[in-house]
Amino acid sequence: MSTSAAEPLHPATAAVVAGRPEPVADAPLNTPVVFASTFVGGGDLEYGRFGNPTWTALEDAIGALEGGDALVFASGMAATNAVLATLPIGAKVVAPTHAYLGSLTQLDEGQERGALTRVYVDISDTDAVLAELDDAAVLWIESPTNPALEVADLATLLAAAHAKGVLTVVDNTFATPILQRPLELGADVVLHSATKFLSGHSDAVLGALVVRDAELKARLISRRTILGATAGPMEVYLVLRGLRTLALRVERASENAAALVERLSGHPALTELRYPGFGAIIAPVFADAASAERFVAAARLARFATSLGGVETTLERRRRWSGEVVTIPEGLVRVSVGIEHIDDLAADLTQALDAAVAGA
Ligand SMILES: *Cc1c(COP(=O)(O)O)cnc(C)c1O
Repeated sequence: MSTSAAEPLHPATAAVVAGRPEPVADAPLNTPVVFASTFVGGGDLEYGRFGNPTWTALEDAIGALEGGDALVFASGMAATNAVLATLPIGAKVVAPTHAYLGSLTQLDEGQERGALTRVYVDISDTDAVLAELDDAAVLWIESPTNPALEVADLATLLAAAHAKGVLTVVDNTFATPILQRPLELGADVVLHSATKFLSGHSDAVLGALVVRDAELKARLISRRTILGATAGPMEVYLVLRGLRTLALRVERASENAAALVERLSGHPALTELRYPGFGAIIAPVFADAASAERFVAAARLARFATSLGGVETTLERRRRWSGEVVTIPEGLVRVSVGIEHIDDLAADLTQALDAAVAGA
């Protein structure tokens, strides 16, 4: 459906109205799931790896939210790979030391096979990032970072990179377009693990890229088609269904996160309680791995699980993953705050903090 009003729609509205069939009599309100590996020839689609009407609906919705043209991919990692696959051999990529583990692994592997040169920086140290831009091809940003929760000065970094002709990619998975729209600040590419907040229900793995430049879009579509990083229509439908409530979910989860930080701060079990000041991810830090594990094990409402961005609160000690960056504290627990009632959540996490101390 066209959303070309005089003023761009508010994100809460775009999430609800974008990507729907034309409102003609007897048309369904929701775009159906189109299970098709091939289409009658001579049109725009032709084959299931080139396009799908269900993809188009979700792409219209994510594009309306971020303010660009969206492309869906099989996963966030497939979207990441598609961007890196457009780079010339040897390209210098500047990226956060504490970016998502899978993104770091792709960059490390790219360097190992000579495809690219990666340089890691503290993305919250603006001068350190600027100092690496002169000969860079790409500035890869995550803000807030997963799981360290560092925040980048997006406006300054994107303007400086743009002035030097450096391609900018912002992984906007944590903030979502409800809280931050990087294309409006000058980013070239926005990346999403749509598995997380866009979906919101922990039932689908999916990725997305959003761009404004038509030539860049064509190169990314070509990578999607040729690398086969194509999304299943059922997953796309589930994410579109989840996306309809994105604004409500992000608002409630963010309120809960801020309230939890207030209520849990200063608890004797904690050495630190990281919170970027917005969003739904917080990171209580314990003195050691054992205390953090006792906290995770004692939580009852909050579920021990990796991933994030669902309606339910989940948590895990990140260093349980052997590949996690060693400067992430052993005792850091990433908590993805859900939309439950704040009193129930606060009670659960408080008793889990008490248990972390008591078990010592
Ligand atoms: C999960 C995640 C990814 C990877 O996305 P998948 O959908 O799991 O492939 C990328 N970036 C961030 C910040 C993530 O949290």
